[in-house]
Order: sequence, then structure tokens, then C-alpha cells
Amino acid sequence: MITTSIEHHAILHSCEELERQGIETTVVPVRRDPDSQGMVDPEEIRRALRPETVLISVMHANNELGTIQPIAEIGRIAAQAKVGFHCDAVQSAGKVPLDVNLLGVDLLSISAHKFCGPKGVGALYVRPGTPLERRFYGGHAERDRRPGTENVPGIVGLGKAAELSRKLLVEDAARIRALRDRLETSLLDRISGARVSGDRTNRVPNTISMTFSGAGGEALLISLDLQGIACSTGAACSSGSTEPSHVLLAAGLSADDARSSLRFSLGRGTTAEEIDYAISVIPSVVERLRALSPRTSEASRDSHAALAAPSQ
Ligand SMILES: *Cc1c(COP(=O)(O)O)cnc(C)c1O
Repeated sequence: MITTSIEHHAILHSCEELERQGIETTVVPVRRDPDSQGMVDPEEIRRALRPETVLISVMHANNELGTIQPIAEIGRIAAQAKVGFHCDAVQSAGKVPLDVNLLGVDLLSISAHKFCGPKGVGALYVRPGTPLERRFYGGHAERDRRPGTENVPGIVGLGKAAELSRKLLVEDAARIRALRDRLETSLLDRISGARVSGDRTNRVPNTISMTFSGAGGEALLISLDLQGIACSTGAACSSGSTEPSHVLLAAGLSADDARSSLRFSLGRGTTAEEIDYAISVIPSVVERLRALSPRTSEASRDSHAALAAPSQ
């Protein structure tokens, strides 16, 4: 099978298990140039195809960078080669329109809690005729694909969340994008050397991945948390891990920069007041941590000399 270096561990760890079972996986790298950082090049997918390839799995929106991948193009490549195509759309459901026919996918997965639904329930779209083997045994539920009595409250919750997301999507996306852009430009203006990772054009409207070299992501995360600002140093699911994000490394960041990066995510409940508050707090927290950091590199020490000098 073929997948990419920026997938969620839900995919990468599954591929590792398949490797143990003797199924070879080609992990395609992503682009590192600033204009399309973190993007999968469909031609790389085409080059990775082999006569025995059975499945391609590429995510729609990346959960750390927000980059939206060229799924429709990859879908055409998969169809031409008659290879099954799965798309992890967990991060894009509720944020951008999803149409399984336009995307050309055979399988597409979403998770309710990422679009304001309940935790513990997701959905897998299966294009009619897609051969699927059962992974669990012990019952005939869900068309023999997954045993166990269905979680009806969860399923109803997912359906309701999907209905609301569909209704509110256009309005939500415009409002959230405006707030996100204001937060992003304000932080870039006020924090020297701050950089945004990922393709800034092809991106879901709610995500910012920003590097504050020399500030230390973990310390930043804790300081901001104490001030009431919740963000993350990578995938929320990896919190507690001290490893730098595999996504940021794959997108070309150094381990130090990956460790000095934060992800800000906005949602339906985010208000303009909260964004103003974040803009007023984050720059001074970054300055303070940079001045304290023993790990500040020579280069960034020079560019932040003005900040470091006044601290006694
Ligand atoms: C959150 C997430 C997952 C995992 O979904 P859970 O239902 O939280 O386990 C998988 N892929 C992506 C892209 C995600 O953002």
C-alpha cells in the first residue's frame, strides 16, 4: 500500500502493523518548499504504484498544518490504476465541503467529535463494490463488517452534528477564517522571527501552525495554559510526548523548530474577544520565554538580542 509521511498515527501505526503482517507500505514524502510546504505531490503517488499495490491512503486535511491535499487528483490516479483509495477526512469534516464523488475516493473516514459531535463514534463511507474484509468477529452488525450492537446515541449524535455542520459550514468557515487570519497576521507582526508552517493557501480555515524559535513549545504551552489559552505542540492525541511532531519534521522543520512550534485551532465557539485576548498575551509570553531559554541558538539570540538584553 501507499501512504504519506504526514498521516495521523491512526494511519501510520496501522501501516506499521500491516508491515509486521508482511504487507509492504511505501511512505511518500511531502513537499518542503515554502509555497507548498506539507503538500503531497500526486506524481509521487503515481511513481510509488506497483503492479501489486492494493490501497492508497492519503489524508484530506492535515491535523497539524491544516494543509488540504490534492485528493481529487490522487483519486484519478488511483482509479486509473484500479487501486483502492482511502481518505482520512477526520480533520476536514465540518470545515470544508466533502463530496466523495468529486474526491474520487472508495473509502472515507470521519470522526464525530472533530465536528462538535459526541466522542467515541465515527463513520466510514464505503463506495458500493469496494471489497472490505471484516476486522472483528462475533456478530453480524453493520452489514457484517463490524460486530457489536450499534451505539445508537452516538450514531444519532454524529448525524445531528453532520446536519448542523452542513447548515453552518459556509457561515462558520468565513467567520473563523477571518478570526484565524487576524490572529495569524497579528502574531507575525508582533513576534520577531515567528513563522507559519504549511501551505497557507490550501488550508482549512481554522488552523495555524506557528514556530517561535528559541521559545520552547512545551514551556510556551504551559505558560499560555496558565493564562487561559489552550493550544497544542502537535497532534492533541500526542500530548505528553516529548518527541517532536513527525508532521513538522516531514515538512522540513528542524527538531528544535518543531519543538518550538504551536498549533492554534479555532472553532464554532471561538469569539473575537478571545482572539483579541490571545493577541494581547502571546507576544509577551514568547518574549519572556526566549529571554529565559538556555537553548536559544546563537542565530536567534542575535535576532532577539533586544529582547534578551533588558532581563537582569
Ligand atoms: C483526530 C484524528 C484522527 C483520530 O480520530 P479519533 O476519533 O480522535 O481517534 C485521525 N485522523 C486525523 C486526521 C485526526 O485529526
